[in-house]
Amino acid sequence: MGLLSLGTPLPWKEVEKYASHVREHGITQFLHIWNNTKDKKGNILLWGDEVEYMVVSYDDEKKNALLSLRQAQILHDLEENEIKQRKIEDAEGVEPNQRIPTFHPEYGRYMLEATPGYPYTASFDDLLNVERNMERRRTIAIANLLPNEFPVTLASYPRLGAPGQFTDPYYPPTGPASRSFFLPDELINPHARFPTLTANIRERRGSKVAINVPIFKDEKTPSPFIDPTIPVDRDLYPEDANAKDGAALADHIYMDSMGFGMGCCCLQITFQATDIDEARRLYDQLAPLSPIFLALTAASPAWRGYLSDQDCRWNVIAGSVDDRTEEERGLKPLQKNRFVIPKSRYDSIDCYISRGAEYREEYNDIELVKDDEIKKMLTDAGVDDALANHYAHLFIRDPIVVFSELVNQDDANSSDHFENIQSTNWQTMRFKPPPPGSGIGWRVEFRSMEIQITDFENAAFAIFIVLLTRVILSYKLNFYLPISKVDENMKVAHYRDAVLNEKFYFRKDVFAREESHSEEVPVEEEYRLMTMSEIINGKKGDGEEFPGLVPLVQSYLDRMSIDVDTRCRLNAYMELISKRASGELCTAASWMRGFIRGHEAYKFDSVVSAEINYDLVKMVEKLTKGEEWDGVGASLLGGLAGGR
Ligand code: ADP
Ligand code: MG
Ligand code: MG
Ligand code: MG
Ligand code: MG
Ligand code: MG
Repeated sequence: MGLLSLGTPLPWKEVEKYASHVREHGITQFLHIWNNTKDKKGNILLWGDEVEYMVVSYDDEKKNALLSLRQAQILHDLEENEIKQRKIEDAEGVEPNQRIPTFHPEYGRYMLEATPGYPYTASFDDLLNVERNMERRRTIAIANLLPNEFPVTLASYPRLGAPGQFTDPYYPPTGPASRSFFLPDELINPHARFPTLTANIRERRGSKVAINVPIFKDEKTPSPFIDPTIPVDRDLYPEDANAKDGAALADHIYMDSMGFGMGCCCLQITFQATDIDEARRLYDQLAPLSPIFLALTAASPAWRGYLSDQDCRWNVIAGSVDDRTEEERGLKPLQKNRFVIPKSRYDSIDCYISRGAEYREEYNDIELVKDDEIKKMLTDAGVDDALANHYAHLFIRDPIVVFSELVNQDDANSSDHFENIQSTNWQTMRFKPPPPGSGIGWRVEFRSMEIQITDFENAAFAIFIVLLTRVILSYKLNFYLPISKVDENMKVAHYRDAVLNEKFYFRKDVFAREESHSEEVPVEEEYRLMTMSEIINGKKGDGEEFPGLVPLVQSYLDRMSIDVDTRCRLNAYMELISKRASGELCTAASWMRGFIRGHEAYKFDSVVSAEINYDLVKMVEKLTKGEEWDGVGASLLGGLAGGR
């Protein structure tokens, strides 16, 4: 359960009073960590993934696939099972990589998160273990579900918040925390932290969050599309007026609650670096890859019962926790607030933090909003400018949830206030300092990827990112490009079929030779627009050669002594990634869109009915079980070595 401290959560009006207190003590806590661990060297690579699930509950009679709200019971059963199993493992001295996986709560009351029971090492045995471990997690989850339930790994649920019943059991779509038109508060994990996050974000912002995803205009979709399912005349809460006052846009799918974003599932990878400098370098080098892998894992084509004209979840989550006030969003002059803030607290990173030889000032080309007092605290304590800027930027935010019992802490031994701000900056990359007193090293988390339908795909993407980190370090690769260009890529990554139709800014010469960063070369000449296939598979000839990320990883693997079985499996993973990039196989978003549009009940009006959704989820379950890869799922998974 980690960060989910128990206690009495304060309402927003009270939290506000403690904001400076939390920030100052948070930074003091960070400085203790920094002083204790900044010079620590020689940590080994340890890494792990996080897989998020949605538990569906089938109503086979009514042909409806509902979201099961039994999370508390399921997690309770999983925990009892884990405790029992751990005792056996301890008695028998089971190898770390064979230990039972761990389940965690998530925002949605239909969600589960699972991680390996122990972080993986750099060994190739452990790489081979990743997919098995993911399979084991799903098997364990299934053993703790009802016969009509199944844990799917869908990034966004097509009928979350759609008219009619979409949860089991049914609740009317109202509730004081979110005040949503579409989602009942009963959908939120009831642990005090989550409803409080929801309510306090809404209160801090001064209105409900407002997310507008462009609707996919199909042959019979009305134009302009004015959504008839928005209860614009409801008058239950003051915020009910938001939609009428302009929050709901025509030609868009309007969503008004944190659950639409935080109720999505993603695939995250955390790895430990040998020391703080390596962690900073990996953070910077992976940042330009975050939009690339968002586009490549795109799996979110439908929202609130409609097909959307975008394929990814990211901007929906960004909007779903956007607690910025009107002043902070630049809609009113600053009076009460301190800063105009360009992005949500869930968004892409705003600055690079490493200062190795390949770094140039021109890469940090977006204006960084900073808290000057925080910056001074950090630099006075000897923290370098780059890292001080990073935290002075994260710490422009207020805490959203404060537990009254935890206001006063022992700053030398706690990181609670630090984590309060740090872990509610949900960015594409996260730089994770060692927890106090833990022996854990500096870690970096890669957070942009969408969850994939099968364990095979999730293992493939997780392993590919980890191998990339090895290649970056051993070949001294340089992926730097101006961070404004990373942001442009982030935007483009959302577009429908971006993998096929869009180009992304990418660095031309990724080998960090001395001359390649000579100040003579203007930064604009260091990068160009590339297709996804060029970036992943490479390009030959015509003066625009690019090695490609898959060939780079392959050449790295060629130098290793790996047994044949392992190499074959790794090749299968890379084949998937390579074919997704070339378009030979499509993304999950594209496959789902195709399934929906090809369904006999689809009326070409963008509506994903309960019946279509039911058949889609049933088919997703089959794919998860290794069925239909060369059948209905052929465009997604055809020809791959799924059955081992
Ligand atoms: P969070 O939700 O804060 O990102 P989780 O605990 O859910 O963190 O997931 C962290 C991931 O990091 C897990 O996959 C875990 O196996 C992995 N992990 C644990 N310890 C280490 C470590 N020392 N170094 C790298 N990764 C680790
Ligand atoms: Mg987690
Ligand atoms: Mg049921
Ligand atoms: Mg999670
Ligand atoms: Mg995480
Ligand atoms: Mg977490």
